Amino acid sequence: MGKIKSCFNSLGLKVGISLLLVGIIPMMLFLFFNNIVVSKYFSEIEAKNILFKTQQVNKRIQSKSLELERVVKDYAMWDDTYEKIQQKDEKWIKKNFLDGIPNDFDIDLIVIANKDKKIVAEYGLGDNDVLPLLEDKMIDQAFKEDIYNENDNFKGIKEYNGDLYMVAFSPIFKSNHEGVSRGVIIFGKKITPKFLKEIERQLGYNVFFVYDNKFILNDGINAEIRQNIHIISKIKGNHVIELGKTRIIGSTYMKDISDEKVGYVGTIESRDIFFSSVSFVRRNTFGILLLSLSLIFIISSKLKNNIINPIKNLEKQITKISEEKLRMHVNVNGPNEIIHLGTVFNKMIDSLFKHKRENENLRNISNTDELTLLYNHRYFYECLNKSIGQGMRPITILFCDIDKFKSLNDIHGYNTGDIILKEIGNIIKETVKNSEFIFRYGGEEYVVLLENCLSEQSLEIAEKIRVNVMRSKKLKKNIGYRPITISVGVATYPFHALGVEDLVEKANKAMCFAKQNGRNQCHIYKKDMDDLVDKNYYEFEKQEMLMDSALALAAAIDVKDEYTGKHSELVAKYSLLLAEKLNLSEQDQYVLRIGALLHDCGKIGIPNDILRKPGKLTDEEFEIIKNHTILGNNIIKYVVKNSGIVSCVRNHHERWDGRGYPDGLSEEYISLYARIVCIADTYHAMTSDRSYRNGLHQEQAFEELRKNKGTQFDPNLVDIFIQTIYENTVEKKL
Ligand code: GH3
Ligand code: MG
Ligand code: MG
Repeated sequence: MGKIKSCFNSLGLKVGISLLLVGIIPMMLFLFFNNIVVSKYFSEIEAKNILFKTQQVNKRIQSKSLELERVVKDYAMWDDTYEKIQQKDEKWIKKNFLDGIPNDFDIDLIVIANKDKKIVAEYGLGDNDVLPLLEDKMIDQAFKEDIYNENDNFKGIKEYNGDLYMVAFSPIFKSNHEGVSRGVIIFGKKITPKFLKEIERQLGYNVFFVYDNKFILNDGINAEIRQNIHIISKIKGNHVIELGKTRIIGSTYMKDISDEKVGYVGTIESRDIFFSSVSFVRRNTFGILLLSLSLIFIISSKLKNNIINPIKNLEKQITKISEEKLRMHVNVNGPNEIIHLGTVFNKMIDSLFKHKRENENLRNISNTDELTLLYNHRYFYECLNKSIGQGMRPITILFCDIDKFKSLNDIHGYNTGDIILKEIGNIIKETVKNSEFIFRYGGEEYVVLLENCLSEQSLEIAEKIRVNVMRSKKLKKNIGYRPITISVGVATYPFHALGVEDLVEKANKAMCFAKQNGRNQCHIYKKDMDDLVDKNYYEFEKQEMLMDSALALAAAIDVKDEYTGKHSELVAKYSLLLAEKLNLSEQDQYVLRIGALLHDCGKIGIPNDILRKPGKLTDEEFEIIKNHTILGNNIIKYVVKNSGIVSCVRNHHERWDGRGYPDGLSEEYISLYARIVCIADTYHAMTSDRSYRNGLHQEQAFEELRKNKGTQFDPNLVDIFIQTIYENTVEKKL
């Protein structure tokens, strides 16, 4: 229904219908007037015309009877007639009337009667009784005339003896109109087809008379009248009737001398003029109709081409643009108004897209972190809420935190810190290529949102990120050999948490667990982590402080010593590699790490000129140097209670064979920590460059270690150390 309605609502159809209505309604009216009014008008004219013609016949008869009246009056006012009637001079009457007049005036009836209505002479009466004639009231009146009255009208038509006559009569007076009337003279002319022919000749059309159901007509129309007698018999007086399709009959009453109706006069006419007029008008109407339709067609096609098609074209383009959300201009031809419409639309599209772009920019700015160009904290919550709201399950988040970033800032400066933040953002982006959802959550914290991803699958991604950060050459370029690492916590909605905040908290908890377990790790959240992380918090903080102090002290020693690079840190690294290989516990590794970092802390008390002396040391100087073990012990003993750490500081120069210092301990009397640090310390001392000499190659250093196996070094550790270092060259591991 709606479709049909909208179809009727189309511009083209509306214009088309309007044009047709505008064109056709006047046309219909025009046709109506032509066919009904005009043909009625024409038939009225035709009727009037034919009635007029019948009246003309009457008039013609009138004028003929007037002529006859003049003749009869002429004879009746003749003095001789006046006398001879008196004298009853039949001879004279015969000679002057009966012998001459019928021929001279083509008269068929002559009756001369005296005052007593006695026939004096007659012509054409035959055996017929004259009385009906004489007793006609008009003729009878003529007999009674005694004084001449020139206004008397004694003429007209008279039916007599079954025939129709045109009669004229007059009282007989002297030519000077004196004396009394001597009688009446009646002249009659029989109305015959011949008579009609004469009238027809004068008038130019067919005429017939009807009286007493008798016809007077000439041969030309005789047959036609007879054929249509049933129609013609219906005619009464003033009347117009159609005869067949092509002829028309008009009739008018015919009155006799006494003003009585005696029949009627008819004329027959061809309807050619009527039909040709009507068909002329119809032809014209049809022509005008055709012309109008052609004009409508031309106007319609012009309207279609110039207005409707451009509007439709514009509508089509606008629909396409709006449906497909295209940034496109419309291209229209047509009248100025439509072109202007197109131009305005194009401007609107431009401004719409400009606003859209501005909005997108604004939205991006409000969603983006300025430094890393990742999405920001606010947008993270928006996205997470949206994903959960859309029913997305499971959703995993990776909570990534840079390890010890504060100290990186402290050592390398805030600008380098910023570069690192950006670079780690890039590494995460490159690693998690198929996720758009990477956010800078806080200072040195990132979150990755993974839709349709379970924890285990996500842990692999987290591991990839961790390894990529740790191995990044670009990061190393910025801060030297010490690796930057991250710790990652993984939590999944809805398995670990049912709310947004809770999910973040759980991932953060798993990240803290990774931190407490030595950093540079990825962990999926587990329920027991909540308690574990909280329980270990103070111990962890304490250890952190110790580690930070150790690192600070180590940095201070390394600056004082002549080693280029970070001796203490590398000794700690080598020591830990060996400890890992030996499967030492986390706690042992922690002790070893701090011990290794602090092993040379006693050097703080050794004068720089001895410490950095390039040549051979004197015995005295060597004794001073050797004293750094005791000195170190004295420095840390108040801070560090752990004997393992202390032993690393005091005993890292002891020898397996007992010839070391300061205590001359041998074999397993020396703590494992100190034996490990001893090997790592010697290895790094041999392989690092000094200002006055180049370090040994790795193989040479290994050879030295092997040579002193069982004398200087623990024979059980040397080979494992060499193998470990070989497997994990410092570069590779870092
Ligand atoms: P942990 O391994 O326990 O995470 O130690 P951490 O030092 O990374 O953690 P902590 O929260 O103590 O320090 C975070 C540091 O990140 C503190 C702040 O100076 C630094 N930081 C935060 N935002 C920015 C930044 O936009 N630029 C730089 N350069 N540093 C920042
Ligand atoms: Mg942090
Ligand atoms: Mg951190």
